[in-house]
Amino acid sequence: MAISANLGFPRIGANRELKKALESFWKGELNEASLEATAKEIRATNWKHQQATGIAHIASGDFAYYDQVLNHTHMFGAIPPRYEALKTKDKLSLYFAMARGHQKDGVDVVAMEMTKWFDTNYHYIVPEFDTDTKFSLTHNYPLEQFNEAKAQGITTRPVVIGPVTFLSLGKTRSGGNALDLLPKLLPVYQQVLKSLKDAGAEWVQIDEPFLALDLSDDQKKAYIEAFDALKTSGLKIMLTTYFAGLRDNAALTFALPVDGVHIDLVREPGQLDAALTNVKPNQVLSLGVVNGRNIWKTNYEAALKLIDRALEKVPSERLVIAGSCSLLHSPVDLNNETTLDSEIKSWLAFAVQKLDEIALLTKATNDRNAEDVQAALAANAKAMQTRATSKRIHDDAVKARMAKLNDDMLKRKSEFKNRIGAQDALLKLPLLPTTTIGSFPQTVEIREARAQFKAGKLTEAQYDAFLEEKTKECIKYQVDADIDVPVHGEFERNDMVEYFGEQLKGYTFTKNGWVQSYGSRCVKPPVIFGDVSRPQAMTVRWTKFAQSLTDRPVKGMLTGPVTILQWSFVRDDQPREITCKQIALAIRDEVEDLEKAGIRLIQIDEPAVREGLPLRASDRPAYLTWAVDSFRLSAAVVEDATQIHTHMCYAEFNDIMPNIAAMDADVISIETSRSAMELLDAFVDFKYPNQIGPGVYDIHSPRVPREEEMTKLLRKALEVLEPSQVWVNPDCGLKTRGWKEVDPALRAMVASAKKLRSELKAHKKVANG
Ligand code: GLN
Ligand code: ZN
Repeated sequence: MAISANLGFPRIGANRELKKALESFWKGELNEASLEATAKEIRATNWKHQQATGIAHIASGDFAYYDQVLNHTHMFGAIPPRYEALKTKDKLSLYFAMARGHQKDGVDVVAMEMTKWFDTNYHYIVPEFDTDTKFSLTHNYPLEQFNEAKAQGITTRPVVIGPVTFLSLGKTRSGGNALDLLPKLLPVYQQVLKSLKDAGAEWVQIDEPFLALDLSDDQKKAYIEAFDALKTSGLKIMLTTYFAGLRDNAALTFALPVDGVHIDLVREPGQLDAALTNVKPNQVLSLGVVNGRNIWKTNYEAALKLIDRALEKVPSERLVIAGSCSLLHSPVDLNNETTLDSEIKSWLAFAVQKLDEIALLTKATNDRNAEDVQAALAANAKAMQTRATSKRIHDDAVKARMAKLNDDMLKRKSEFKNRIGAQDALLKLPLLPTTTIGSFPQTVEIREARAQFKAGKLTEAQYDAFLEEKTKECIKYQVDADIDVPVHGEFERNDMVEYFGEQLKGYTFTKNGWVQSYGSRCVKPPVIFGDVSRPQAMTVRWTKFAQSLTDRPVKGMLTGPVTILQWSFVRDDQPREITCKQIALAIRDEVEDLEKAGIRLIQIDEPAVREGLPLRASDRPAYLTWAVDSFRLSAAVVEDATQIHTHMCYAEFNDIMPNIAAMDADVISIETSRSAMELLDAFVDFKYPNQIGPGVYDIHSPRVPREEEMTKLLRKALEVLEPSQVWVNPDCGLKTRGWKEVDPALRAMVASAKKLRSELKAHKKVANG
């Protein structure tokens, strides 16, 4: 008999209870006991969901107040030295200081770094190591949670992040290799596993997603050493991999002394065959067939095809049916979506529903002919069928347009070096032109007006008049501050993806489809369910209005196709590339309309280009090709004299600089100020051909930069870039900042640009004799 397993469950609570409790706790409005009570209740609810569905291997140890990686750092006592003063305090003060920094009672320490968890939108706290980092078991989270469930009568399968992945996720301060710490770390793992065994656990789930990535020789060696040490605990080990396929690491993985291996068949169904040839006769194979990262119902027929292939080689006693990865990346419960269109709802499954799917597929593996199995399979096939043929999804006009895509549509009329003359002649901008990235402060006043409008307390006309007023103020301000290329300020936008999603066909929105992004922060990605098109202009009204208020050329603001795709729940019935190009066509229409309305600078933001990059190096070229093509498709419709800008942030781009250049935007603005223009190193080797605005001030911090700091950064930029290439701008949109900071910062930025401009002019005069 095959059994079912769940690799992890969302911990924010169906109504974001954890978020609310954490934020009250941080404000001092909730005490520790109440916070713990909330957490305990969420865990109990999660376990009950799993128990009620009949999941055999229920996850515990997957709960964290902030982040599961941070839990491990805390558990192993790998506390960076700057938190020393907090070590004697209560455990939560130390824990949250590492997550968020601490500025109280004479202690002032910054938080640990945070970065994206593989290719998800979840962020983890990066462990910090040093060659002399010591580990000791200071806080046994897996044991605590195992015992807590046990007290509720539920025997669980504790989850820990494996030692090689844990070390590989970290950063070593002195530049050493974190894997050198493995011999010191393994005894602590042994201690944890032993404690779980003593407490009555039978299995432990050890997450090693790195096994599905490109491994260094050091990592491969580390895997052998690590699992040799862990096999002695007496616990059965389920070694879990996800987010990619084992590929060249399949033999290594199954040769490890583990009792089971989990593979992600949603991300890479093709890896099943290699798993079947490599699995050892004493090993269990866990098939991840229910997508833990999306919201669509599982196609039972397709999943059972994979399961049946496995059954040909592996008896059902040695099969586990599971989610592809932890359900952490799915919203909690579809039943809370009371206003969602019922047809679309019938195609969806959130975490609670995914448990049902896992249970059903397990039953189907064991007894295909059981009556309830047959009924469920039939109902699922029907849902798949209605979705596959629904008029809501399939738009013939979009498909016809997609069929006519051609390479000419990806090309501007002329090359950059020829079109820039036309742009200069039209725009007449000074050297080192100044601009911003788009948004201006989203003040309380603006958010309140939007909320009132949504609640029906402001009429459309009233809200519109309010937005006009704000846009007017913003343009007036920028003219007064002498910014060469003003923007309208984006006051009408709630979010840079949602704003467009709301106006595009093929999109829908959930009420409660929250997913943890980091700590207490959750996101609610819009859902692309069908062919995407743009019924009418989306931004022309506000851009045109802003342009009517000034003689300076106003820059129009759009979100690019890759970013819209990346930050949405994407349909799973066609390749991402196709969906992305449909969005690109919609943006292309908008670009064309903006140009027709007289807007001659258009920025298409693509902050998410880097994060879509596949985990395996060999998959990257294909992605980069369609991502770059999608951007070009959206932009390449304009005349030579119309200037296309783009903007990127939230990542390091140096490794994909040639691809960014291939996007062929006339101007790119790019986040860089926090890393003191590390970005510029890229231009020493690679001559960026078009224009570029390296961000000169960090908008993520409330700190107001001084003019001299920005001048210094600009001088550095001028060392590797031609003066005619350089723009002057902040490193991202200003929406999260207040006017109090923005005003002095922008004025200093303009002053800095002017100073360098006159220096460059004087220099030129001297040079010309
Ligand atoms: N134009 C957007 C803004 O200024 C860009 C935001 C972003 O890069 N994330 O807000
Ligand atoms: Zn940005």
